[in-house]
Amino acid sequence: MSAAKSTAEPLKIGLLGAGNVGAQVARTLVEGRALISSRVGAPVKLIGVAVRDVEAPRDWKIPGELLTTDAEALVDEADLIIELMGGIEPAGTLVERALRAGTAVVTGNKALLAVQGGKLSQAAAESGALLRFEAAVGGAIPILRPIQESLSGDRITKVMGIVNGTTNYILDQMDSTGAAFYDALLEAQRLGYAEADPTADVEGHDAAAKAAILGALAFHAPFDIHDVYCEGISSVTAEDIEAAAASGYVIKLLAIVEKNDDGAILRVHPTLLPRTHPLASVRGAFNAVFVVAENAGELMFYGQGAGGLPTSSAIMGDVVSVARRLHSGPEHPGTTDTSSDSQSVRALPVDEAHTQYYIDMEVADREGVIAEVARVLADHHVSIESMRQPGSVSSDGEVDTEAARERGAVVQIVTHLAKEKDLSDTVSTLRALDVVKSVNSVLRVEVEQ
Ligand code: NAP
Repeated sequence: MSAAKSTAEPLKIGLLGAGNVGAQVARTLVEGRALISSRVGAPVKLIGVAVRDVEAPRDWKIPGELLTTDAEALVDEADLIIELMGGIEPAGTLVERALRAGTAVVTGNKALLAVQGGKLSQAAAESGALLRFEAAVGGAIPILRPIQESLSGDRITKVMGIVNGTTNYILDQMDSTGAAFYDALLEAQRLGYAEADPTADVEGHDAAAKAAILGALAFHAPFDIHDVYCEGISSVTAEDIEAAAASGYVIKLLAIVEKNDDGAILRVHPTLLPRTHPLASVRGAFNAVFVVAENAGELMFYGQGAGGLPTSSAIMGDVVSVARRLHSGPEHPGTTDTSSDSQSVRALPVDEAHTQYYIDMEVADREGVIAEVARVLADHHVSIESMRQPGSVSSDGEVDTEAARERGAVVQIVTHLAKEKDLSDTVSTLRALDVVKSVNSVLRVEVEQ
């Protein structure tokens, strides 16, 4: 670890990237230098900002003498590097170079952490360098430090979050206006919530990167994005949203990490939540993370999950915290190590998860259909929590109206908690039944703890 700085010598900060977040961080470090120095208890100085194009227009005009294209030289000169370039390379090589030299790093780069988090934590542990990444999950929301520090004397059993604002905006639009997925996506792009290529958001990859980080910190294990089961929201239809609403549910893309006696399951998928669940009320592009710990019980963290200015708040929180540590001298870095309990927590396949399914299917309009469906569930050890047959069946549960004959009878089942493998086998068997015309939608359900 870097030796403690004397109070006379400013702590040299190097910034890699000056885009949406980086430009705001540069502004805070230049315009707010006196305030940040007083929060640290020692002078700090932004010594350089590495970018690709020094002439490019920026949200805040960075003094020309700070801009450079030589990121490596900046890494070698600084006491603290703030990495806000994004992507895997060259960010990964630069961050590793800094850490191996014992230089502290603050980053918001979830994509990098989700594939190289274990290696980078290891490099930091070996050199004693500090590595912080609060902004990588939930933007402005302080969620990683509470997990790493405030709850370090407790045992976290589950973390469940809306960690991608783009998909939450799209699902919220579909829920509140009845819009189809692609119309809601176009609106999100028009408002700047979704990128021109929205794949990383809508297919769940961004949320999966954050699930890997949350799982690694919550369960002290070096998980990466390959340990996360991932389904996005592009197949969620307006009919799914409408049917969910009719049953008192809302559909959210959740990142869920949970631990059982055998290991941990990390997953991202569209999920039905009862409208009374705390996460159901998270609207628009906001984020929220729900944490369950043995002694603390349930906690929820809510706020802006993206945006240059909100995210710069989390970056600056890490910068001040790290700068204080560098100023006060060596101490066990501890809090970012994800490898210490790795012997005891391994990633399990999603088949091992225990969850509830919502199954919406169209069935034949003849007697005995419901009994046949119920038998398939029972054969797979899956019991039914509730069953709805919207507008097409008699009170004894059998299809009997002319309307049902014309459009087929819809049956919506919510199962009790069961093993994912049994639930997915149930759906496969149902699909193969003669009496089942189609399985329209299968979604997992999370109920209040
Ligand atoms: P951005 O707007 O795309 O900015 C990237 C910056 O990095 C640009 O200034 C770019 O230089 C510079 N850069 C990229 N490649 C470079 C290279 N090879 N050499 C030198 N400079 C290079 O990104 P952002 O939105 O600020 O996000 C930065 C990081 O924060 C990402 O990891 C992102 O995931 C994370 N984050 C962002 C948000 C958010 O709301 N935006 C929220 C949470 C976390 P030029 O300007 O010259 O092109």
